[in-house]
Amino acid sequence: MKFLTPQEKAVILDKGTERPNSGIYEHFDEPGTYLCKQCNAPLYVSVDKFDAGCGWPSFDKALPGAVKRQPDADGRRTEIVCANCGGHLGHVFEGEGFTPTDTRHCVNSISLEFTTLPLATLQRMETAIFAGGCFWGVEHLMQKEPGVLSVTSGYIGGHLQHPTYEAVKAHTTGHAEAVSIFFDPDITTYEHLAKVFFEIHDPEQADGQGPDIGPQYRSEIFYTTPQQREVAEKLINLLKEKGYKVVTKVTPADTFWEAEGYHQDYYERKGTEPYCHFRTRRF
Ligand SMILES: [Zn+2]
Repeated sequence: MKFLTPQEKAVILDKGTERPNSGIYEHFDEPGTYLCKQCNAPLYVSVDKFDAGCGWPSFDKALPGAVKRQPDADGRRTEIVCANCGGHLGHVFEGEGFTPTDTRHCVNSISLEFTTLPLATLQRMETAIFAGGCFWGVEHLMQKEPGVLSVTSGYIGGHLQHPTYEAVKAHTTGHAEAVSIFFDPDITTYEHLAKVFFEIHDPEQADGQGPDIGPQYRSEIFYTTPQQREVAEKLINLLKEKGYKVVTKVTPADTFWEAEGYHQDYYERKGTEPYCHFRTRRF
C-alpha cells in the first residue's frame, strides 16, 4: 500500500472529490494502463478512456473485477472503489449515451497512477518481498538486477495500519524494514533474486544487520506465492548444508506498507554506495 499524501488521503480514504479540470489525467491520452494509486492494482486501460467534457477522467468500462460499485453516502449516486483495497475512485453513471457501453466511470486523477506498461506485461509481473536490514541498501542493490522493474522500501510483518518510520523504529508495531520488488519473470527468476538477497545481507545475524540493531532489521522472506515459499526454503536448506547458521524466517506476505517518500531511492539521490550491504558469494 502506498504512502499517501494528505491530498491523496482526502480523496482515496475520505472519499473527497478533486476540483473539476484540476487532475493530471483529464486531458491525457497516452496508451497504457491506469493503476490504483494506493495498491497498484490495474483498474482501467487507455483504450476505454474517453472525453466526456465533465472535468474528470472518464472510462466506459473497468477491467473485469477491478472496480466495486456501492451506494454513495448521498443516497443518489453509485460510488466506485478499488475492489482490491477499497480506495475511493469516484462515481459511475449509466444511460448518458456517451459510448456503446452507455456507462461512464468518472474517476479522480489523484486516485490513479498511470503506467505505459501494457496490461499483459503487468499481469505477467511478480512481486518479491525481502527484509534484510536497512531497506536503503537492499533497495539500492536489488534495483541493479536485470528484469527488476521497480523496488520500493517499506514495512511489513507488523500489526499497525499505515505504520510510520518513527513507530517502526520505536519497536511498537512489529514491522520489519523490507523491499517490495516488482520483476519480470521472463527476464529474471524469483530464485535468482532470492540468491542475491542471501548474498547482499548476512542471513546468520539475528535481529539486526551489521551496525543496525533491532527487530525491524531482522532477516525475513515474505512470500507471495506457494512457489516462492518452496524456493526460499530450498535455498535456506542449501545454505545450511554449506554450514551457514541461517536465521532467516519465511512468512506469508501480509500488507506491504510503502515507506515515506524520503526513504525511497535513498542512495541514488545521495550518489553514494551503501555502508550496510554488499555482495558476498554464498551459493
Ligand atoms: Zn487499490
